[in-house]
Amino acid sequence: MTKAYSYACRDCEGMEACPASIVAATKEELWTMMGHHARIAHDENPDDWDAETNSYLETLIKTVEV
Ligand SMILES: [Zn+2]
Repeated sequence: MTKAYSYACRDCEGMEACPASIVAATKEELWTMMGHHARIAHDENPDDWDAETNSYLETLIKTVEV
């Protein structure tokens, strides 16, 4: 078993209909993939996320064993 980080987009307020979930070995990779997902699926620019948004998203990241 290895520790990994996961983010399920549906956990985010307003994104309940989004089926995407992301798992990555490091938080850095996870954030990069979350950013790509936001651009591709939600037409959002992660560079525009403010500190509040980033800390909210941080609370949605879970540690998992894979
Ligand atoms: Zn999504």
